[in-house]
Amino acid sequence: MARDFPALEQRVNERRLVYLDTAATALKPRAVIEAVTQVYARDCANVHRGLHQLSQRASAAYEAARAALAGFLGARSQEEVVFVRGATEALNLVAASWAMPRLGQGDRILVTALEHHANLVPWQIVARRTGAILDVAPIEPSGEVSLDVLASRLTDRTRLVAVSHASNVLGTVLPIREIARMAHARGALLVVDGAQAAAHVRIDVKDLDCDFYALSGHKVYGPSGIGVLWARAELLAEMEPYQVGGDMVADVAFEGASYRAPPHRFEAGTPNIEGAIGLGAAVRYLRGLDAAAREAHERDLLEYAVSTLEEIPGVQIVGSPATRIPLLSFTVEDIHPHDLATFLDGEGIAVRAGHHCAQPLLEQLGHSALTRVSFGIYNTHADVDALAEALRGARDFFSVF
Ligand code: PMP
Repeated sequence: MARDFPALEQRVNERRLVYLDTAATALKPRAVIEAVTQVYARDCANVHRGLHQLSQRASAAYEAARAALAGFLGARSQEEVVFVRGATEALNLVAASWAMPRLGQGDRILVTALEHHANLVPWQIVARRTGAILDVAPIEPSGEVSLDVLASRLTDRTRLVAVSHASNVLGTVLPIREIARMAHARGALLVVDGAQAAAHVRIDVKDLDCDFYALSGHKVYGPSGIGVLWARAELLAEMEPYQVGGDMVADVAFEGASYRAPPHRFEAGTPNIEGAIGLGAAVRYLRGLDAAAREAHERDLLEYAVSTLEEIPGVQIVGSPATRIPLLSFTVEDIHPHDLATFLDGEGIAVRAGHHCAQPLLEQLGHSALTRVSFGIYNTHADVDALAEALRGARDFFSVF
């Protein structure tokens, strides 16, 4: 697997690169790099406009990417796939186009305490502008979300439930199907932030029975600056665009304009053509792998990492959810996460340190920063061993001070 990823061929600080930051962004397989290069080297044209060969090729590849994403997500049709900049833009689109015009005084939005800022701040703004109330369901000490707690926070005024499919800090995988059932029983819609789950968990939006699903291309081994908002067709059909301009209009006069049908209505201006095509290549690459083997590999890596880190004195893993994507946040006694990440970089090991864009969650957990390691399909036990050795080295190094 690792040989598909040219970035892993480099050395960092004269050491083999150990990349443990896939949750921030995944490395790119050759298939993605070649697809993007092909756009620039050959099919370099704008989409949906030109009659010439290059434009036709680019347009076909762009729409084929949409179809690939529809397949990846289990969408009923590719018209349900809107290309956006990433999960952040997808969630902002739902906030601006669905929630803002529909919510009013006394309506409620429910989120959990483990949300990334991207799935929290847009709802704060909707609440502030519409008079709606933002409810936050607390999490268990394990890092899990209790369905009973969620149920107790749902009311008949809850219009929208917005939750992560998987936490970027604790790795917790949330029971989306059950949450969808509970939300719908109260007449609320469910928005799922799939930024972290999409690279690890099989997604079928029909089976999950959610109403909106957001993902970022760069976290599923695709390019950055591209992502998807999936939404049920009937919801997209009744939503106004939140950006307007070229390509999304059907007819324009000085007095006004009519819009194209979804998904084009939500893709104003020249889109990220090479990003979409690269993302299409990424999900085709992923679907070409044996899904069960991939899941088993990631589960094995996670278990190995947990047991290895637990043996290192002073290392404390945060949270213990029963189902988690392959990522772990932890503390190392007496070493600040930023110092630790800098030390690990010196050993050629890339990790993330900080508040992980989930400041309210970290505050609840009683930390201002955590170190996080996250795994992708290219990681091996040797990477975990390198991390463990470096962590022991860090303890020795910092104990001097
Ligand atoms: N939600 C979660 C859970 C995330 O981890 C991230 C990325 N860190 C986002 C949303 C936002 O994704 P992006 O920055 O790609 O828009």
